[in-house]
Amino acid sequence: MGYITRAMDRRTLLRTGSIAVAGLGLGGCAGKTPQSEPVRPSTGGVRPALDLVPVNASWGRVIHTTVGLRPYRASGFIVKPEKLDHKTIVHDYGHGGGGMSLAWGTGYLAADMALAHGSRRAAVIGCGVTGLCAARQLQRRGFDVTIYAKAIPPHTMSNMSLAHWSPVSRVVAVTGRTPQWDEQFRFAAAIAYRELQLLGGRDYGISWIDRYVPMDAPPPERVDSARALLPAYLETRLDVLGPGQHPFPLPYATRESHMKFEPAIYLDRLMRDVILFGGRIVIRELEARRDLMALPETLIVNCTGLGSRDLFDDQELIPFKGQLTLLAPQPEVNYETGGGLSSTSGHAGVSLHMTPRSDGIALGGTGERDEWSLEPNEEARQQVVDGHIELFSSMRAPWRTT
Ligand SMILES: Cc1cc2nc3c(=O)[nH]c(=O)nc-3n(C[C@H](O)[C@H](O)[C@H](O)COP(=O)(O)OP(=O)(O)OC[C@H]3O[C@@H](n4cnc5c(N)ncnc54)[C@H](O)[C@@H]3O)c2cc1C
Repeated sequence: MGYITRAMDRRTLLRTGSIAVAGLGLGGCAGKTPQSEPVRPSTGGVRPALDLVPVNASWGRVIHTTVGLRPYRASGFIVKPEKLDHKTIVHDYGHGGGGMSLAWGTGYLAADMALAHGSRRAAVIGCGVTGLCAARQLQRRGFDVTIYAKAIPPHTMSNMSLAHWSPVSRVVAVTGRTPQWDEQFRFAAAIAYRELQLLGGRDYGISWIDRYVPMDAPPPERVDSARALLPAYLETRLDVLGPGQHPFPLPYATRESHMKFEPAIYLDRLMRDVILFGGRIVIRELEARRDLMALPETLIVNCTGLGSRDLFDDQELIPFKGQLTLLAPQPEVNYETGGGLSSTSGHAGVSLHMTPRSDGIALGGTGERDEWSLEPNEEARQQVVDGHIELFSSMRAPWRTT
């Protein structure tokens, strides 16, 4: 089924309140959302969207496909201290599809918990985004930090991320939440949002971009349980463009500004910062608790993502596999697209989205619950690339819109 004929499915989805379309979904875990009225197209002060250059999407421009496993816990991430013999472990893991967004915030909480420990020497286990942000938050509080990790950027799962400001994406199941978790989440999201704003516009690969979601009818008003988790000031304005106001092959499109990260640039820069502030990075796999006990540090911050399933026997932790297919870079593309949910999504949970990055045009994406394979899902890859070829080949070129 093609991009345009899928519009009806998308519409049904929007009407029933799916939030994956807006990039803020709880994945397969979202609860019921109230019905709501469609939003009218915006009038007055709305920029037209006629100067968008179509992506040159074709199979000949595919450069590679990446696969990552989101570390998902139905009851949400864990940030808490634990005593293990003479060691203090502060856990900071299980961020699902929101780790790139939340890591500065959960790292803040973890570092504050670490302050209760007498020593100012800390081991951080893990060198993905969570470990790197926790290490920086510890350094800011005067800790001497050593990171121990099996893999470091560019070979962590964090490098396989898209990545956007999407703190509620596949981060918790509606039924798994507690008021205490909600409070931690809101605090972490607010801290992280502020920090990322400060780093944006510098050389951390963080920037803002417009995302367009073509659709066949105006969207419903945004009322959903995932968004309710976020303070209102973390919302951005949603413009609704009507027929003639945009170049997409459906009558309507929404537009919203998003913060995005370039994982390769961002993680590399964080790693350099850790070293710049006196930190050390040691490549080491910790296979069992006895390896933790053998570390010289008595304070350990656990940021091992999915690794905590074995290392700390957390059986609630499961992977949510995600894959991206990259086309050769196209620097003139300065917007994103989203929406377009495949009716044949099935097990792979395909939802179409495009993000331009300096390492290529990233096409997504998938969400396969409890799937451990790091091999690309070929059927999903086909759907994602073919869906985008159809979208961009039917987009009106800028010179034909005036
Ligand atoms: C396709 C895709 C798209 C995504 N999009 C977004 C997005 O738009 N926005 C967003 O916020 N998030 C997004 N995410 C989610 C985000 O990438 C994750 O939440 C985040 O990367 C988790 O980071 P982490 O540091 O906890 O885990 P990881 O990156 O997996 O890092 C874990 C670290 O621990 C180490 N480790 C593990 N076990 C051991 C051990 N036993 N001994 C030593 N070291 C160990 C690893 O080597 C690694 O260094 C996406 C993920 C995917 C896959």
